[in-house]
Amino acid sequence: MDEVSVKTSSHTQFIDITSKVSEILQKTGIKEGMCTVFTPHTTAGITINENADPDVPRDIIKEMEKVIPLNDGYAHIEGNSAAHIKSSLFGCSETVIIRNGTLMLGTWQSVFFCEFDGPRNRKVWIEIIGK
Ligand code: ZN
Repeated sequence: MDEVSVKTSSHTQFIDITSKVSEILQKTGIKEGMCTVFTPHTTAGITINENADPDVPRDIIKEMEKVIPLNDGYAHIEGNSAAHIKSSLFGCSETVIIRNGTLMLGTWQSVFFCEFDGPRNRKVWIEIIGK
Protein backbone atom coordinates (compact mmCIF):
# COMPACT_ATOMS: atom_id res chain seq x y z
CA MET A 1 0.00 0.00 0.00
CA ASP A 2 1.17 3.53 -0.79
CA GLU A 3 0.12 6.75 0.85
CA VAL A 4 -0.34 10.10 -0.88
CA SER A 5 -0.56 13.36 1.06
CA VAL A 6 -3.09 15.92 -0.08
CA LYS A 7 -3.02 19.45 1.32
CA THR A 8 -6.32 21.20 0.67
CA SER A 9 -6.58 24.97 0.64
CA SER A 10 -10.29 25.70 0.92
CA HIS A 11 -13.40 24.41 2.68
CA THR A 12 -14.76 22.52 -0.31
CA GLN A 13 -12.41 21.56 -3.09
CA PHE A 14 -11.82 18.88 -5.72
CA ILE A 15 -8.16 18.04 -6.38
CA ASP A 16 -7.10 15.95 -9.37
CA ILE A 17 -4.82 13.20 -8.00
CA THR A 18 -4.62 11.09 -11.17
CA SER A 19 -0.94 11.86 -11.82
CA LYS A 20 -0.03 10.85 -8.25
CA VAL A 21 -1.88 7.55 -8.65
CA SER A 22 -0.24 6.94 -12.05
CA GLU A 23 3.21 7.63 -10.58
CA ILE A 24 2.66 4.97 -7.92
CA LEU A 25 1.38 2.53 -10.55
CA GLN A 26 4.51 3.07 -12.69
CA LYS A 27 6.74 2.29 -9.69
CA THR A 28 5.02 -1.06 -9.05
CA GLY A 29 5.61 -2.23 -12.63
CA ILE A 30 2.18 -3.89 -12.56
CA LYS A 31 0.71 -4.17 -16.07
CA GLU A 32 -2.67 -5.85 -15.52
CA GLY A 33 -4.79 -5.54 -12.41
CA MET A 34 -6.84 -3.27 -10.21
CA CYS A 35 -6.08 -0.06 -8.38
CA THR A 36 -8.06 1.05 -5.36
CA VAL A 37 -7.87 4.69 -4.26
CA PHE A 38 -9.18 5.09 -0.72
CA THR A 39 -9.30 8.03 1.66
CA PRO A 40 -9.51 7.29 5.41
CA HIS A 41 -11.50 10.41 6.33
CA THR A 42 -15.16 10.89 7.25
CA THR A 43 -15.47 14.38 5.76
CA ALA A 44 -13.77 13.78 2.40
CA GLY A 45 -14.36 11.58 -0.62
CA ILE A 46 -12.97 10.17 -3.84
CA THR A 47 -14.75 10.56 -7.16
CA ILE A 48 -14.08 10.19 -10.87
CA ASN A 49 -15.32 12.92 -13.19
CA GLU A 50 -14.39 15.34 -15.94
CA ASN A 51 -10.91 16.86 -15.88
CA ALA A 52 -11.03 19.11 -18.95
CA ASP A 53 -13.40 21.87 -17.83
CA PRO A 54 -12.81 23.15 -14.28
CA ASP A 55 -16.41 24.40 -14.35
CA VAL A 56 -17.57 20.79 -13.97
CA PRO A 57 -16.21 20.31 -10.42
CA ARG A 58 -17.31 23.89 -9.69
CA ASP A 59 -20.88 23.08 -10.75
CA ILE A 60 -20.86 19.84 -8.76
CA ILE A 61 -19.77 21.72 -5.63
CA LYS A 62 -22.34 24.49 -6.23
CA GLU A 63 -25.26 22.10 -6.67
CA MET A 64 -24.14 19.99 -3.71
CA GLU A 65 -24.32 23.04 -1.45
CA LYS A 66 -27.98 23.41 -2.45
CA VAL A 67 -28.84 19.77 -1.79
CA ILE A 68 -26.84 19.55 1.45
CA PRO A 69 -26.62 23.03 2.99
CA LEU A 70 -23.74 23.82 5.34
CA ASN A 71 -26.17 24.64 8.14
CA ASP A 72 -29.52 22.90 8.35
CA GLY A 73 -30.22 22.32 12.01
CA TYR A 74 -27.99 19.25 12.13
CA ALA A 75 -27.64 17.47 15.50
CA HIS A 76 -23.91 16.60 15.24
CA ILE A 77 -22.23 18.92 17.73
CA GLU A 78 -18.97 19.26 15.78
CA GLY A 79 -20.89 21.34 13.23
CA ASN A 80 -19.66 19.55 10.11
CA SER A 81 -22.58 17.25 9.35
CA ALA A 82 -22.84 18.52 5.79
CA ALA A 83 -19.30 17.27 5.17
CA HIS A 84 -20.10 13.87 6.70
CA ILE A 85 -23.19 13.53 4.50
CA LYS A 86 -21.27 14.48 1.34
CA SER A 87 -18.55 11.99 2.25
CA SER A 88 -21.12 9.20 2.42
CA LEU A 89 -22.78 10.25 -0.83
CA PHE A 90 -19.53 10.43 -2.79
CA GLY A 91 -17.92 7.46 -1.07
CA CYS A 92 -14.38 7.15 0.21
CA SER A 93 -12.93 5.06 -2.64
CA GLU A 94 -12.82 4.32 -6.34
CA THR A 95 -11.43 1.32 -8.19
CA VAL A 96 -9.78 1.65 -11.59
CA ILE A 97 -8.83 -1.19 -13.98
CA ILE A 98 -5.17 -1.40 -15.03
CA ARG A 99 -4.29 -2.51 -18.56
CA ASN A 100 -0.87 -2.28 -20.23
CA GLY A 101 0.48 -0.54 -17.14
CA THR A 102 -1.96 2.37 -17.34
CA LEU A 103 -5.12 3.40 -15.53
CA MET A 104 -8.14 2.65 -17.72
CA LEU A 105 -9.81 6.03 -17.39
CA GLY A 106 -11.96 7.61 -20.07
CA THR A 107 -10.46 10.45 -22.09
CA TRP A 108 -12.10 13.10 -19.93
CA GLN A 109 -11.91 11.27 -16.61
CA SER A 110 -9.68 12.02 -13.65
CA VAL A 111 -9.58 10.72 -10.09
CA PHE A 112 -10.43 13.55 -7.69
CA PHE A 113 -9.86 13.89 -3.98
CA CYS A 114 -12.93 15.69 -2.62
CA GLU A 115 -12.46 17.97 0.36
CA PHE A 116 -15.68 18.78 2.21
CA ASP A 117 -14.33 20.21 5.47
CA GLY A 118 -11.02 21.90 4.72
CA PRO A 119 -8.54 23.23 4.59
CA ARG A 120 -6.73 20.22 6.05
CA ASN A 121 -3.85 17.84 5.52
CA ARG A 122 -5.35 14.64 4.13
CA LYS A 123 -4.14 11.26 3.07
CA VAL A 124 -5.09 8.83 0.35
CA TRP A 125 -4.19 5.15 0.41
CA ILE A 126 -3.51 3.37 -2.85
CA GLU A 127 -3.48 -0.40 -3.17
CA ILE A 128 -2.60 -1.96 -6.50
CA ILE A 129 -2.98 -5.67 -7.16
CA GLY A 130 -2.10 -7.54 -10.31
CA LYS A 131 0.85 -8.82 -12.28
ZN1 ZN B 1 -17.94 15.68 12.60
